[in-house]
Amino acid sequence: MRNKIITAFMATLVAIVGCSDDSENTSIEGAPSVFFMVETLASDEMGGRDNLSAGSLLAQSFLYEELAKIAEPIFPAAQGIEGYLQHYDVGTNVLALVPGGELADEYVMIGAHYDGHGSDDVCAGKTAEDDICNGANDNAAGVAAVIDVVRSIVADGVPRRSIIVTLWDGEEDGLVGAQYYVENPVFPLEQTITYVNFDIQGANLLPSLRNYTILVGAETGGANLVEASDRAREASSLDTVMLSLIFGQGRSDHAVLTDSSVPAVFFTDANNGCYHTVKDDIDAVDFPKLEQQILTAQALTRELLVTDDVPVFNDEAPPSVYEDAEELLPIVEAAQSDIGRFPPEAQVTAEEFLIDLQAIVDAGPEAFDTAAVGTLLVGASFLVATLRTLECDPFLADG
Ligand SMILES: [Zn+2]
Repeated sequence: MRNKIITAFMATLVAIVGCSDDSENTSIEGAPSVFFMVETLASDEMGGRDNLSAGSLLAQSFLYEELAKIAEPIFPAAQGIEGYLQHYDVGTNVLALVPGGELADEYVMIGAHYDGHGSDDVCAGKTAEDDICNGANDNAAGVAAVIDVVRSIVADGVPRRSIIVTLWDGEEDGLVGAQYYVENPVFPLEQTITYVNFDIQGANLLPSLRNYTILVGAETGGANLVEASDRAREASSLDTVMLSLIFGQGRSDHAVLTDSSVPAVFFTDANNGCYHTVKDDIDAVDFPKLEQQILTAQALTRELLVTDDVPVFNDEAPPSVYEDAEELLPIVEAAQSDIGRFPPEAQVTAEEFLIDLQAIVDAGPEAFDTAAVGTLLVGASFLVATLRTLECDPFLADG
């Protein structure tokens, strides 16, 4: 069964290579482009990569092939692909190690979930023509970003610290793969200085927000991680909005690591109307945006690999700070120009949120209190919930 799948996979691969564009931006021989990786992972042949499916096995084989070019197995005694797989009862994490130099026993973890909903009950919008949630933005794009970041770093030689690459399974079933890892860590969690997580990349929320993307949770690593993240966002042309951990709503694998006292940042584009639908396909991915997101992630990962200002896990951080209001204001303001896309009652709420947010910013940091925190959290989750109800229109008919 497994051999048949792999044979089918190779045939698919050859077929896709034939019509793939480029393979620029790397000096690793045979390494495919970001586009090719997203296209392969989000292909119908992989069936949406639901855990324990045939498509999931194809994805594991593909990820193994790519990781083996740039990283070592995490279980060196095991043969071939098995050296890269961490099996658990309902899934398989794909993991790899890039050994560091001087500080080889300190680790920067970089990862994304590779599983998706396939054609399960959560997958929405199924038709006779298309009944697969291919999960291109969520999270083929995140996985491709991880591999591309690691590849560019490896191309420069041995990093100072080691890199653990974690491609999780079972995220969509409740962060199950990441949870299994923290209960069975391959490398000590206390020597894992930061986890850099990607979930939903290259996605657009509104025409007015195409240049925005989100980085969540830097305060979990204290001032050192906040400052490193702030510097990293200068590496791209995007407006990267930095928000406290609570705005990520514990919704991706980073939450498992922060629960285990590992500092983490979470790169995301939040949920648009394509989320968990059959329309989350390759053509929903904004590749120029994804390339910019990779630049930010690369800058942050490179700094974490060398820095002497190591992030220190901070569980004293307040749930939200004044800076969250300052970061949210421009994005909420920009979204007003697309408010006509919202249902009428949501338009009123969005306008009220903008007024409240402006008042919080105007009142200054001294006045920032629990009521202000409540306003931010309620307003932000209302916006995310509303955006998710809009029609899937990835490029938002602006051209
Ligand atoms: Zn996801």
